[in-house]
Amino acid sequence: MEQLQEFFRRETPRMTALADQIWSLAELRYAETASARLHMDALAGSGFRITRDVAGIPTAFMAEWGETGPVIAFLGEYDALSGLNQQSGALVCTPSVDSPGLAGHGCGHHLLGTSAHFAAIALQAHLQAGGGQARVRYYGCPAEEGGSGKTFMARAGVFDDVDAALTWHPGSFTGVFSQSTLANIQAKFIFHGKASHAAHSPHLGRSALDAVELMNVGVNYLREHMPSDARVHYAITDSGGLSPNVVQARAEVLYLIRAARNHEAAELYERVQNVARGAALMTDCKVEIVFDKACSNLLQNRTLNQVLYAKLQAEGALTVDTGEQGQAGQFQATLSKNDIDAVSRPLASVLRGQVPAVFEGVAPYDPAAEEILFGSTDVADVSWITPTVQAWVACYAFGTPMHSWQMVSQGQSGLAHAGMVRAARVLTATAIELVQRPELIAQAQAELLERRQGKPYACPIPADVPLPFLRT
Ligand SMILES: [Zn+2]
Repeated sequence: MEQLQEFFRRETPRMTALADQIWSLAELRYAETASARLHMDALAGSGFRITRDVAGIPTAFMAEWGETGPVIAFLGEYDALSGLNQQSGALVCTPSVDSPGLAGHGCGHHLLGTSAHFAAIALQAHLQAGGGQARVRYYGCPAEEGGSGKTFMARAGVFDDVDAALTWHPGSFTGVFSQSTLANIQAKFIFHGKASHAAHSPHLGRSALDAVELMNVGVNYLREHMPSDARVHYAITDSGGLSPNVVQARAEVLYLIRAARNHEAAELYERVQNVARGAALMTDCKVEIVFDKACSNLLQNRTLNQVLYAKLQAEGALTVDTGEQGQAGQFQATLSKNDIDAVSRPLASVLRGQVPAVFEGVAPYDPAAEEILFGSTDVADVSWITPTVQAWVACYAFGTPMHSWQMVSQGQSGLAHAGMVRAARVLTATAIELVQRPELIAQAQAELLERRQGKPYACPIPADVPLPFLRT
């Protein structure tokens, strides 16, 4: 353990520099070329073998070190979010003057990918010092945000021989990521009608925009008759032009359908498609349905969660100096009570009515409670293939919501860097325990089989759906 402390003391400046660089690049899904390259070059420099273009994706890669033993994988991300460009450290929403409207790291993936990267090389250092045998992998996973990068990678089988996968997510508290997440399916509905002069010959026109509107109305009626934990969202991505005097010949709506389990998402998708077909019939239009992407619901693994929890507790409380506390307090003052309440509620037993500027402890882990986090992640697809564990680690002022300008602004703070290093230490310690106690891996794999009820993983993205960046 002392060796590990020394490793992170030595490597912290390099970690911080890498995370800061990726924060500044803020590259969007499937275009994370420079960010992926920074990771690949550094891992190659540390003696890892690099496989590029994993699953046919130019910004996905795999780095591996070691010849024998269990395959221990760290999952890294590095994609940003569009429209969240923000000046580092600004206490009010201040899009950077150079590139307003461009992307920003509003989900902390610059920290996520960097921490997982250094956990991989810390494990390598431990094994090189006689700590056992394992094949250490780092998966560079692009497009977590809206691109289901890992699901496409899972479809190509790149995680099939992994014995256990470890990752984390930056947040405003620390604990085991113990909830399940929702499965989802995203599809485009393109309606084709017939253009016509809206006053002179309306009877000759068939409005694709009418079809979109009727589809949305139909789906809004469907809501009453779907599982209560399901979600359906839509965005009209083409309303058919700007002229009201032209009957709209083409219109398009993008649907994102979520449910607690894959088969429920698939069933709901079928019903939404029926509504679309009905809308097409009503308006005498044609509907073209294009499957875009999907991801699975997350399978928890209690065996691994317990190992991770013990390591989080062994790390102890995060110590943050008064300067960092003060800065976090200033960011917290920009949040609403509702923002803070949303994070506080599940932590009521530890907070006891207090709202800290920085969450310094570890949230209790209750293996019996498996709640749903109402969101989705493509880590879920990995969790169906190999036992997977994730930590939350405090990197932001307590209460900071995901995908907010405040999250982007705090991305290079001392607290963000400290959380990133802490996450890497915890992931490394968890991996070391798995290498030392192979029975834990066997137990985790048996648990996964049980959770899958003996069924194999079935990728929710059909085999014939092309990678998003290859579509015309
Ligand atoms: Zn994220």
